[in-house]
Amino acid sequence: MHKRSVVTYTLDQCIKCMKCVKACPTSALSMVDNRIIINDDRCLNCGRCISSCHSKGLLARGSTLHDLEQYDYTVCMVPSSLISNCSGLDELEDLFNAISCLGFDEVVDISPYEGAVMSEVYRLADEYADTSVIASFCPVVNKLVEHSYPMLLDHLAPIAYPSEIAAKMIRSRLTDHGRVGIFNCCECEAKLELAKYPYGNMRYETDHALAIVDIFPEIQRHMEQGRLKVRPYRNGLQSCNPALMLQKPEYLIADGFEKVTNILDLAEFDLLKSFQLLYLFPCFNGCAGGHLLFGNSYLARNNIHALAETDDRPDISIPFDIMFTDEMTIPTDTIKTFAERISFFNKVNQMLEKLPGYDCSACGMQTCRIMAEEIVKGTRQLTDCRILPVMKEEEDVNQ
Ligand code: SF4
Ligand code: SF4
Ligand code: SF4
Repeated sequence: MHKRSVVTYTLDQCIKCMKCVKACPTSALSMVDNRIIINDDRCLNCGRCISSCHSKGLLARGSTLHDLEQYDYTVCMVPSSLISNCSGLDELEDLFNAISCLGFDEVVDISPYEGAVMSEVYRLADEYADTSVIASFCPVVNKLVEHSYPMLLDHLAPIAYPSEIAAKMIRSRLTDHGRVGIFNCCECEAKLELAKYPYGNMRYETDHALAIVDIFPEIQRHMEQGRLKVRPYRNGLQSCNPALMLQKPEYLIADGFEKVTNILDLAEFDLLKSFQLLYLFPCFNGCAGGHLLFGNSYLARNNIHALAETDDRPDISIPFDIMFTDEMTIPTDTIKTFAERISFFNKVNQMLEKLPGYDCSACGMQTCRIMAEEIVKGTRQLTDCRILPVMKEEEDVNQ
């Protein structure tokens, strides 16, 4: 079983402030025995805990450039979000050359794949106009739907992640290149999970996930040493920024975690059915605002204009069996049947009545409800609540 959370914890750096525990939208973190514990089944890899930690107690781990040594031929895939950090074609060609200097045999711009996928999303949304198609290509949204909005699972567009489509098509043309290693430059924590390594997720075609911030110092070292020709696709670049996507009254395109959950809350109650498409980016400014990028996401819009304003090439063609997938989500809930879920829910509610309801996190859990869940699962005890003894003492004094 692979590790789902890409978040790693460093005990030495942690000052036990509990900010990360409070920041997690799915209560995946707790403090037990003075150290942070990450619940892999709950974690969405949204990166909010990492952003909230100012002590480097939490980091997202990716593959490293040493992993190139395992292969005969290596390819680095560059997404639109990273391209959108460049202010013009000269800088972009410089960047591609610097990435190639890290030791890659090929550096591939995946904006053509991202553009073709976007066109397919718009086509699906228009074809199934009587229902809201949810699309995102962010694993956070897909997991959020699975975790908290299972009623909406059938609304998810069954289209593969663009990086996966690109990896499959790249590999299919390199069959005579020996052992081919495909690396993806990842702009956010969530994308790190979409590769075989370092987390052992063997279902993906991409071999390695590199965090852009990790390789940035090396990239910078090789800047201004040459140029590698690249002409990104305009519709692919536009897919990384909500302000540049196709705007229609029937499309609801939103960025930011709170907005995304608000939209999913409303969609779950069928209150957004007049929209054909709900396109959701948990990161502010879309994928161009990914936590692992080094650029200014507010400038991405202008950069994209400068990079591809006049591009009018048609979409590349992607075979049906590569474009579509029924594997957007992986079941994570260990409590399987509906009856088991109800029984668990009832037991948690009963336990919750015995707890103070202060949600103070003094026990290391984010809220009393999470504490109640852990007590029902048998991992914690009622006596682990720090407030109950104080309340008891007060009661005794007042009697
Ligand atoms: S945010 Fe979390 S990991 Fe970071 S120092 Fe505070 S408790 Fe430790
Ligand atoms: S990455 Fe997101 S879901 Fe996972 S532990 Fe951190 S805040 Fe929670
Ligand atoms: S009141 Fe008790 S159970 Fe609730 S969060 Fe505080 S210590 Fe934990």
